[in-house]
Amino acid sequence: MKTLLPTSTAGSLPKPSWLAEPEKLWSPWKLQNEELIEGKKDALSLSLYDQLRAGIDIVSDGEQTRQHFVTTFIEHLSGVDFEKRETVRIRNRYDASVPTVVGEVARQQPVFVEDARFLRQLTKQPIKWALPGPMTMIDTLYDAHYKSREKLAWEFAKILNQEAKELEAAGVDIIQFDEPAFNVFFDEVNDWGVAALERAIEGLKCETAVHICYGYGIKANTDWKKTLGSEWRQYEEAFPKLQTSNIDIISLECHNSRVPMELLELIRGKKVMVGAIDVATSAIETPEEVASTLRQALRFVDADKLYPSTNCGMTPLSRRVANGKLNALSAGAEIIRRELSGK
Ligand SMILES: [Zn+2]
Repeated sequence: MKTLLPTSTAGSLPKPSWLAEPEKLWSPWKLQNEELIEGKKDALSLSLYDQLRAGIDIVSDGEQTRQHFVTTFIEHLSGVDFEKRETVRIRNRYDASVPTVVGEVARQQPVFVEDARFLRQLTKQPIKWALPGPMTMIDTLYDAHYKSREKLAWEFAKILNQEAKELEAAGVDIIQFDEPAFNVFFDEVNDWGVAALERAIEGLKCETAVHICYGYGIKANTDWKKTLGSEWRQYEEAFPKLQTSNIDIISLECHNSRVPMELLELIRGKKVMVGAIDVATSAIETPEEVASTLRQALRFVDADKLYPSTNCGMTPLSRRVANGKLNALSAGAEIIRRELSGK
């Protein structure tokens, strides 16, 4: 990427109200069959347009074709029974009724590859594509088959690798794995979590990223954040291992969070997508607020490795707010670009 401080989003953007009920996670589709297929494509185009209009450099599909960042991928796999449900605790935070792994998991056909090809046709800008990470995937399921979190994660890593290779062939420039679970299961991250991620990126020539955050701005997450105290040092656990991993980019929540910025020193040398937009509030940041967060990050991240981004996905926000935040991100990055070039 030649642009200094290339901007991007963590992933999801709000869907238009004719496609799904806005400001809601797991929002059901409003269309069906052929209309739904066409509607998703139109929403993807619209989402791209919103990003381009805001001046975002690395664009995405806004996750317009998926209902949820983890579930939609798993729905396309065999070996998981969505009718057979068990209640489990997600990320040690809240109980949810989840599908059951009933046999060997496998990817029978590509999941997002057609969507990626479609996006590739629409723009020459670099494209980033988000997939769920292996550890976050196993954390949304009840496993009645492998009976080992590590083994199931490893199987998912192999499946993700198949998908990632086809996304790369479709012209995706950066493949990102969403691993909010890395902020929770520290022992597992170090024992096998990062290794599973490296299995997922095996053989890829495109750039790779891992997104680790404190979650969408939903109540279960904001309540959890209140219990974390004055300093959020969770990143400290995974960073040393990630610093020595093959992952190119690490995407983080920074703005309005209690993450001590100096923790970024632990991943010095990696590219860092610095979350400079808070997704847990509808208040739109000023460009100067964005710039202030980026300035702090620049103390620990070299300028050529700093990628301004959002803390997390923006699905639960209104389109008006999300677009305002995209504009603020662009304008904030531009302030710092000017400062760095001495103009
Ligand atoms: Zn996130």
